[in-house]
Amino acid sequence: MGARTGDEYITGLKDDRTVWLDGRRVDVVNEPRFAGSLRGMADYFDYQHEHADDCLVEDAESGELINASHVIPLCDDDLQRRHRALDRLARYSIGMLGRTPDYVNVTLAGFVAQRSVFEKNGDTRAGEALAAFQREVALKDLSLTHTIINPVIDKAVGDVEGINADLAPRIVRRTADGIVVSGSKILGTLGPFADENFVYPAHPLPKEADPAYALCFSVPVGAKGLHTVCRDHYTVEGSRADHPFSSRFDEQDAFLIFDEIEVPWERVFIAGDLDVYGNVMKHGWAANIIQQTGIRAAVKLEFAYDLACKMVEVQNMGARSEATQLLGELVTYADMTRAAISAAEAGAHQYRYGGWFCATEPFTALRALMPSWMTRVNDIFKTLGSHNLLCTPNEAAFDNPELGPLLRRYLPGANDITAEERARIFRMAWDFAGSALGSRSELYERFYLASQPRNLAGNHLMAQLGRQWTDVDDFRRVSGIE
Ligand SMILES: Cc1cc2nc3c(=O)[nH]c(=O)nc-3n(C[C@H](O)[C@H](O)[C@H](O)COP(=O)(O)OP(=O)(O)OC[C@H]3O[C@@H](n4cnc5c(N)ncnc54)[C@H](O)[C@@H]3O)c2cc1C
Repeated sequence: MGARTGDEYITGLKDDRTVWLDGRRVDVVNEPRFAGSLRGMADYFDYQHEHADDCLVEDAESGELINASHVIPLCDDDLQRRHRALDRLARYSIGMLGRTPDYVNVTLAGFVAQRSVFEKNGDTRAGEALAAFQREVALKDLSLTHTIINPVIDKAVGDVEGINADLAPRIVRRTADGIVVSGSKILGTLGPFADENFVYPAHPLPKEADPAYALCFSVPVGAKGLHTVCRDHYTVEGSRADHPFSSRFDEQDAFLIFDEIEVPWERVFIAGDLDVYGNVMKHGWAANIIQQTGIRAAVKLEFAYDLACKMVEVQNMGARSEATQLLGELVTYADMTRAAISAAEAGAHQYRYGGWFCATEPFTALRALMPSWMTRVNDIFKTLGSHNLLCTPNEAAFDNPELGPLLRRYLPGANDITAEERARIFRMAWDFAGSALGSRSELYERFYLASQPRNLAGNHLMAQLGRQWTDVDDFRRVSGIE
């Protein structure tokens, strides 16, 4: 089949999925509140065809055109080809959509590049199943979300201890056909709008943990027993000009409950092996996936800088140093992001278990700092925009014959910018940083790659493992300081 169109994507969602919104089971495709978001996701599928030169590649075996995010990276050319596609795809929503399918596609391609990590004692079943799954996802152009975090309610004990032990997904039974899983996962972004939910390890489990928790599998969102419990939906009705992001880019996060779901062996990649589970994220996961997330972030930061410049222009604040400093801060974050991607790509190499991935360190540094940058962007928007962000009549107000002329007279932009254009700029900025969707987007940036404290602590640990830190003692010796 190959790369799908938007209509084909929506047709694929017509199944018996159990999706809950506001305490009611809803039919995703026909739920009026989801209409804007679904169109937004469907347009992403059409967009890949509109930009086929960048986004699609020919599958060598079938001759089908598939999304380039499925390329299994084995050399620099693969990484560069993927880079081009990821950059173009991110521009569809200027990075406001975090879980476009290319995200998990890149993860899956990286796992397949080193599928031996999933194999043990000469048993190749899991690696083969993973490779077959990846081909299916690529050729059918399935959209995947992932849920990798266990719902740790009690943070004073381990992820699968105390009250948490009852919450995390675990194998409750094995059958001839596969495994039966019960438990839950936080959060599945795109949960109701995905075709499959891919579950894989985030953090290793302790050696003494019950192996039943050591799981990696994928299930269709329509699988019997899978409950997708949506948070409040944030789509705002109205035109794109009035709500450029909120009208179509709510990718809908959901809490997932697995109530005795049956997973056939073809979709089971780890079933009760703590060693394999603990190894999966150690051999290049970050180096692989942060090429996708870093490029998305760079596109978003560059857009934010450009929009902030417009906010300054429409207020004629360009000569004021407080404004230029804030603009400089924004473009610095974008430049640092591009620099980290370049450095990571320049340092790409073969990884121990296979795969040609970017260098890890520039990406783990980026992952640890990005949450601060993204929250700072929103802060800068609010500082530059102030009350203007809320003084933004919509299209209907300008169209009103009584009100429109008054607004044009009393709310024009500086620098000869029209009142309509001024309102559009600030509406876009508010939708980016302050609306319900904008606030959710900020929370996403803070946590989607695990929390900042966890990542900073991890970088310290890796630094200690990476080399002997004798710099202070060496300097003292060279300087003759006791
Ligand atoms: C909008 C959104 C969408 C998401 N989508 C997905 C998704 O699709 N799939 C998915 O798997 N996950 C997703 N996540 C991520 C996931 O849900 C968790 O939010 C994320 O992994 C953080 O989990 P946690 O609470 O265990 O974080 P923790 O690491 O426990 O951090 C929570 C807080 O605890 C404190 N803390 C933790 N560790 C330390 C430390 N070492 N030192 C000091 N303080 C510390 C900090 O205050 C930190 O902010 C999403 C999150 C959000 C917000």
